[in-house]
Amino acid sequence: MQQLFQNAQIAGPDGSLLAVDILVTDGIIEKFLPAGGQRTPQGIIASDLHGLFVMPGGVDGHVHFDDPGFTEREDFATGTMQAAAGGVTTIVDMPCTSLPPVTTADNFRIKLRAVAPKAYVDFAFWGGTTPTFIDSGAYRRLLPELKELGVVGIKAYTISGMQTYPRLDTRQMVMLFEAARDFNMLVAVHAEDYFLATYYTEKIIREGRTDPLAYKDGRTYDAEPLAISTVLALARREQTRVHIVHMSTSAGVDLVRQAKGQGIDATAETCPHYLLLNREDFVRLGSVAKCTPPLRDRYDNEVLWAGLLDGTVDYVTTDHAAGIYPLEKVMDNIWKAYAGMPGVQLRVPLILQEACNVRGMNLYRLGEILSTNPAKRLGLFPRKGILAVGSDADFACIDLNADWTVHAQDLFAKNKYTPFEGWKLRGAVRQTYVRGAKVYDSSAVFPAGPGYGTFIKAG
Ligand SMILES: [Zn+2]
Repeated sequence: MQQLFQNAQIAGPDGSLLAVDILVTDGIIEKFLPAGGQRTPQGIIASDLHGLFVMPGGVDGHVHFDDPGFTEREDFATGTMQAAAGGVTTIVDMPCTSLPPVTTADNFRIKLRAVAPKAYVDFAFWGGTTPTFIDSGAYRRLLPELKELGVVGIKAYTISGMQTYPRLDTRQMVMLFEAARDFNMLVAVHAEDYFLATYYTEKIIREGRTDPLAYKDGRTYDAEPLAISTVLALARREQTRVHIVHMSTSAGVDLVRQAKGQGIDATAETCPHYLLLNREDFVRLGSVAKCTPPLRDRYDNEVLWAGLLDGTVDYVTTDHAAGIYPLEKVMDNIWKAYAGMPGVQLRVPLILQEACNVRGMNLYRLGEILSTNPAKRLGLFPRKGILAVGSDADFACIDLNADWTVHAQDLFAKNKYTPFEGWKLRGAVRQTYVRGAKVYDSSAVFPAGPGYGTFIKAG
């Protein structure tokens, strides 16, 4: 099947906009043509994009869609509907917040069977392992099996709130790093020092504090750079590819910048909430804004932005993790609230607003930090993450001049809440295409429907 997408505006590498028509054959980009230069030959299906800005479809490298196992929080249908509506064409789901966790080939297949019929956009999986598998030696057999099935890498925690997915201690982490190097796998680490965060948290709980900042003070700032230092040292020692997830601190940015300068194969992501929210928002919003790691300070926002602009921070993910609302998310005692916030539907417009409209980033770089860079790091490139001949026709079509206001009620989420309620943004996703098929239209809603999204094997 041939399609011609007419009157698209795409960003050139210098950020300037070019008006093009995009010829797509069987869901793959075949050719870029000057806009409006051709009559549509017979047999080609034409879609006029009326000058919408077309960005490579967003790749969110870090989401928790909770399926199967915790589907009262989110499921793959509601998760990928939000992705589609947010201009995201590929999501990468974490191994830890579904049951069973994706730590064996059998568990991988159980998850794939459960979620594939619900997917509105394409998806990939992170794999995982457990302290038990490492201590027994089974991980040396299990990791290559997961790699063969196409996981993007292995996720590990230095601290974990999940009984079904415990943390690794430093000895176990070294063993994982050795194996990941041997099998050429990426390791993503949630980096907060267990002992530091636990010590201060218990101390503050004993003092009787239950306010939002008690949680922030307990999961102390220094826990993140301490754990990142350990991870980077192990990566250097063992020659392992590592990725720091949801980096939240200014000190973390400095450490990653230094590590890259030393030639360590390390990358880092941050999230919209670490770029745009801080202590004052946590005080104002309370438990709704509880996440792990906690929101930090205005200074950290600024250093993270600087890191994103200079390439130290490679890309932006959401760490989308919804709690049951209001049951798990609205309460006075901060310790009892679920830690996590949704975000997959808002990532592209929030970052477009702040990075481009406010801070002057060009629209090509926007595509890199929201699509190209995660696709490259996670082995999905060049099939995903770029507008190029031979790549999948995954498009986020955006009206750059549309002003709108964020309302949780408008999200396609199972649990409708957001710490960005009431934010005024310029730039709205109007249509989203995955492999040439329209998966979202701001009027017709979800034309391709559930089950259209397919598993993308990392290479
Ligand atoms: Zn996460």
